Amino acid sequence: MKTVRLGADELAPAIEALARGELVAFPTETVYGLGAHGLKASAVSRIFAVKGRPQDNPLILHVLDQEGLERLASPGGVNRWALSLTEAFWPGPLTVVVPAASEVPREVTAGLTTVAVRAPSHPIARALIAGIAAPIAAPSANLSGRPSPTAFSAAWEDLAGRVPYIIDGGRCEVGVESTVVDCTTSPVTILRPGGISVEMVASVVGEVQFPRPGGPARSPGMKYRHYAPQKELIWLVAADSGSLAQARRGVLSPYGRAAVIAPDGVSVPEGWPAYSLGPDEASAARELFEAIRQMDQTDADVIVVMWASERGLGRAVANRLEKAASMKVVL
Ligand code: AMP
Ligand code: MG
Repeated sequence: MKTVRLGADELAPAIEALARGELVAFPTETVYGLGAHGLKASAVSRIFAVKGRPQDNPLILHVLDQEGLERLASPGGVNRWALSLTEAFWPGPLTVVVPAASEVPREVTAGLTTVAVRAPSHPIARALIAGIAAPIAAPSANLSGRPSPTAFSAAWEDLAGRVPYIIDGGRCEVGVESTVVDCTTSPVTILRPGGISVEMVASVVGEVQFPRPGGPARSPGMKYRHYAPQKELIWLVAADSGSLAQARRGVLSPYGRAAVIAPDGVSVPEGWPAYSLGPDEASAARELFEAIRQMDQTDADVIVVMWASERGLGRAVANRLEKAASMKVVL
């Protein structure tokens, strides 16, 4: 299939394609999404085929606002928590899980009785939803298991030849996926940390809980390996030059050169490729996936990511590393 790049002001062909049941990759403020008309089962099925996504991993439906959420939830399904969270953080990187209306295709929910819904803030995503006057089902626009795309080039790398259109919106501002909050439990359950910090969610609903480790996978996506580059990725839970030097003498000694992804201020050995995560948690979230993709293309023998913070968006960064890393080393 020939894939066409569309600019931000050329959305008409993308809207027509979505309305016909075809797939379009497009930017959101979190990561690039691979979108389909969210109420057409056959269109939604194509997402799974193109990504190679396991059939039991449900999709997020993207809407414009709370009205869009109400239409996808069962009558009375939008409870006070779903209301206050969406009031506080929409449009933005927060997904609520609510009881599903009967019109939601089972291809979207993977057979669950609940549906995950988010209102993105990105103007291109919003124009597409408004353009088809329906929700858009969209997981990240990567092949299953690969790092999420946060730049047009990354979406193109994975999906060119597999979808008719990819829209170029430059880099994504947030860089990690949405925070997924199950509003059907009491207190609410944070199924995936993401672009809205746990502290921010708690400031609205008070108490929050997390899925029990080892318990049943409440969010089916949580059980799969994710975000992984081709090279081996070692996560060093540390963020200082001394720890990198120590790792070089220890855990990294069997390897030759490492490509190092680390916050500002870490000094990297001469001749090793490096990518900066910037000064803080927000910049690290924005850069992480692009850093992994770029360092995967160097001639280094291994990728090392240095990250230690669990504050704010640091928790989402740590969560993604937990899934992408083949080894985690606490220094
Ligand atoms: P992705 O779009 O690939 O970033 O993944 C969406 C995430 O939301 C996955 O972890 C899914 O398992 C999760 N999710 C989607 N729908 C539901 C649902 N109804 N209940 C629980 N988790 C969900
Ligand atoms: Mg994904």
